[in-house]
Amino acid sequence: MTLLALEIGPAGFAASRVADDVGEDDIRRHPIPDRAAWEVCRDLLLEVSGEDEVTAVGIASVGPIDMAAGVVAPPEIPEWRMGFGIIEAVQKLFPVATIQLALDGVCLGLAERNFGATSEVMDALAVTISHRISAGVMVGGFVVVGRTGNAGHIGHMLVPGFDEQCECGGRGCLEAVAGGAALVRWAQGQGWPGRGVEELVESAGTGDEIATAALGRAGTALGRAIASVAPLLDIDRVVVGGTLAKAGAPLWKPLNKSVATHARVGFLTGLRVVPSELGDVGVLAGAGVLALTAAQAE
Ligand SMILES: [Zn+2]
Repeated sequence: MTLLALEIGPAGFAASRVADDVGEDDIRRHPIPDRAAWEVCRDLLLEVSGEDEVTAVGIASVGPIDMAAGVVAPPEIPEWRMGFGIIEAVQKLFPVATIQLALDGVCLGLAERNFGATSEVMDALAVTISHRISAGVMVGGFVVVGRTGNAGHIGHMLVPGFDEQCECGGRGCLEAVAGGAALVRWAQGQGWPGRGVEELVESAGTGDEIATAALGRAGTALGRAIASVAPLLDIDRVVVGGTLAKAGAPLWKPLNKSVATHARVGFLTGLRVVPSELGDVGVLAGAGVLALTAAQAE
């Protein structure tokens, strides 16, 4: 029985086998190419599957997705922007495999539920904040997928105090303020000379004022979004993972301050926002949970 996990991220693909002892060395990664995205993705899958017959594949994708149709439409992949039938393509590659697709945030929620910080609670939120922002909403022990598979798009929640234009066409969305791509644009507009989310986090770590201010905006906005979700769902645990979560105090101090300022209803006194312990593999591990579920359902 060979199970595979695939992550379609805003910046790259990742694939691995599903096993108890998968480490970073077992994961194959590739940045999103300018063209031939499926061919790159296919080669990664073939590389990790080797000669074995694949029985199940779990796919985590950045949104939006159409779970029922098996279609992903990430704006970061030009060829797929209008929709790409990922399940059909993977099925052709592995004809006997059972394939499951879910939003990246949903997969992070599954991973935190199975291996991470929310394994002991029934109601929680797992947020991944990197280039984009997505979440897994756990209610009563189940991770919510929504009508079309897109539940968890916390990046398009409105955050008070901000009015930035969002890629979705709206204004004031969390992702338009705190998403890595938006933060980098904002910092560059203030004169920061660097490029990319990782570099922004590093710059803030060395005390760069603009990078620190950018992460401060992200922390404040994310804290407001969390403080809005917490009373709606009556949750007491929020896990934050992704590249920006590694920024330490420049993100976490304003985030915690913002949550403390706004999440004040009595039943939220136990609310804790904690960094994910799953590192860069949270979403992919959740895709692995999908593959296991698919294999068990057979
Ligand atoms: Zn939006």
